[in-house]
Amino acid sequence: MSTFNLGLLGYPIKASFSPQLHRAALNDSGLQGDYQLYPIPPDDPEALAEMLARVRKRELRGLNVTIPHKQAVIPLLDKLSETANAIGAVNTISMKNRQLFGDNTDAQGFLNDLVHLSEKTSSVRKALILGAGGSARAVTYALLSEGWEVIIAARRPDQAQALKNYFSSNIEQLSALKLDIHGLADLSSTLIVNTTPVGMLSHLQGSPWPEDLPLPGGTALYDLIYTPAKTQLMADAEVAGLPIRGGIGMLIEQAALSFRIWTGKKPSTQKMLQAYLDAIQHTRQ
Ligand code: NAP
Repeated sequence: MSTFNLGLLGYPIKASFSPQLHRAALNDSGLQGDYQLYPIPPDDPEALAEMLARVRKRELRGLNVTIPHKQAVIPLLDKLSETANAIGAVNTISMKNRQLFGDNTDAQGFLNDLVHLSEKTSSVRKALILGAGGSARAVTYALLSEGWEVIIAARRPDQAQALKNYFSSNIEQLSALKLDIHGLADLSSTLIVNTTPVGMLSHLQGSPWPEDLPLPGGTALYDLIYTPAKTQLMADAEVAGLPIRGGIGMLIEQAALSFRIWTGKKPSTQKMLQAYLDAIQHTRQ
């Protein structure tokens, strides 16, 4: 029987629920294996190359990649999926047709989970993305590929502009601005997506939304943060009567897509969710 030794490359690897999610998936699928964390500093390219060599030798069956290696691994791979190539970042590595293959499951993971919010907001096709970092890139690509209009609002205008420039060579429905969200004329019928870490547990308290600006009616909120399960911004949006969804669903969907790439099996997202809930309960004790 094959053994699926899997893991996550990152540095530093802060609280990660990936081992719990993937161990639950392995267990549910009746597969042998484990999922380990591999903290690799950004100034150690040899260690990074060594980890990829272990996948090539099939000592490891697959790796997830997170900050700061999502772009750094690209030159070390043989081939990229269309999505990873378009986003310019890899979060899943596997061997495919004897080639070291890089994929990105963040964008599809987001779309898979957005369905739950879209059920309540089916007419909304315009998104305001708060933040312009790595996850904003995946979310922007995901929404553009589904034909959404996208506005990016970041505290550093050059970062918002760089994200726009990255995608805008042949895409028209993207505007980018510094923001100052106050300047936007009409935010009704907009999906607000928080991709900043503001509101994360024991990290950045508060909300990325301006205090003096009411959340506009007719909007909906997707917050990528998954700890806590309900951020300040989500609580405020709920009070304002807006449909909300937090990032746990995306976390699980992107993990399930990675797992399928490595094993060919579709894991139970319910079991993965339960593993996340058990783990978060444990961290509170
Ligand atoms: P990132 O690459 O560092 O980008 C973060 C963005 O937020 C940057 O534009 C950053 O601007 C901005 N930002 C940071 N602090 C801010 C503040 N105090 N006020 C306003 N803007 C601020 O991080 P990321 O990888 O995109 O991750 C962002 C969040 O998404 C994290 O909480 C992460 O856990 C979550 N996430 C969730 C999932 C999921 O599956 N649910 C997946 C990926 C990420 P500066 O560059 O100016 O700091």
